[in-house]
Amino acid sequence: MSSTWEEKVHKVTPYTPGEQPKALDVIKLNTNENPYPPAPAVKRAIADFDYELLRKYPDPTASGLIGVLSDTYSVPADQIFVGVGSDDVLAMSFLTFFTSGEGILFPDVTYSFYDVWAGEFRIPYETVPLKEDMSLDIDAFCRGTAGGIVIPNPNAPTGLDAGTGALEKIIKSNPQCVVIIDEAYVDFGAESVLPLIDKYDNLLVTQTFSKSRAMAGSRLGFAFGSKKLIKYLNDVKYSFNSYTIDALTQKVGIASLSDPDYFKMRCLAIINERERSKKRFRELGFDFPDSRSNFIFVHHNKVSGEELFKALRDNNIFVRHFEGERVQDFNRVTIGTPEEMDGLFDFLKKYLENK
Ligand SMILES: *Cc1c(COP(=O)(O)O)cnc(C)c1O
Repeated sequence: MSSTWEEKVHKVTPYTPGEQPKALDVIKLNTNENPYPPAPAVKRAIADFDYELLRKYPDPTASGLIGVLSDTYSVPADQIFVGVGSDDVLAMSFLTFFTSGEGILFPDVTYSFYDVWAGEFRIPYETVPLKEDMSLDIDAFCRGTAGGIVIPNPNAPTGLDAGTGALEKIIKSNPQCVVIIDEAYVDFGAESVLPLIDKYDNLLVTQTFSKSRAMAGSRLGFAFGSKKLIKYLNDVKYSFNSYTIDALTQKVGIASLSDPDYFKMRCLAIINERERSKKRFRELGFDFPDSRSNFIFVHHNKVSGEELFKALRDNNIFVRHFEGERVQDFNRVTIGTPEEMDGLFDFLKKYLENK
């Protein structure tokens, strides 16, 4: 008997994105989105956009956008790569740097897309357990034998910042492979390893417009690295899809970068609300790793992670709950506006009184 077409399908287990509830009267704290709108300049850029531009293919090099990123971050244009969200940047990076057949390393509790890409691209991997307190086990990443390393800093869903000293130790110990530091949340108070790209040509730093710039809906991410790294990344991109960033998104990205004061003000508001939320969680008996991101990973002795998740959901408050031995007792709560957080804490106070 000949085989069926279905036996030839590349079967993968997909990533499960957080729920996007249709109802509008919900408190949505489940996907680490920014609770504030993008910069006002973004609204103007959309209003002023010449729709006739859509007739032509967009600039495949996104040179305008890369030029502004170059000015904003003081990095030469040929050391910057852009993609359709940092998910696209990361997927392209896995494909470019991690397909040697040698095993790659990432933490056991981390962004749940890494093992999905590894599966998709048939990359062998090993997870490195976080320490008991959920911090990164730095030494375990310093073996110098990995085929690649990817670490988010701050880590998700813990929110913990490893510090640039520890990360530099990892990068320095692994000259045999590319080390990706995924800085999706770095703008909420952690220090970036960006300055280290001049020192280590195997370091790729990825960031995104989705969280700190409130543009998850636009799909825009970027990466910094040595000239060589960025060239290899572009070669793979151009052999896949030349026109990744559409014309409107290029304009909107430039507009977002044009207003650094607005950006800083909103990041600061979220940081302040996060610190206020830590105090309130603590008062209610929650414990959590000390987050430097726009979310807090909380646990309570009196109620299981899943039970709390469901109780919140029944009251139109959405947070994120993950399955898995080390994380199921927790819920990841995105920092919303002060009003949204008041709504959350009003509910929690009443809910915990009866526990
Ligand atoms: C949100 C997130 C990303 C990617 O987000 P994009 O919207 O694709 O830019 C990457 N890494 C981590 C750890 C994230 O939490």
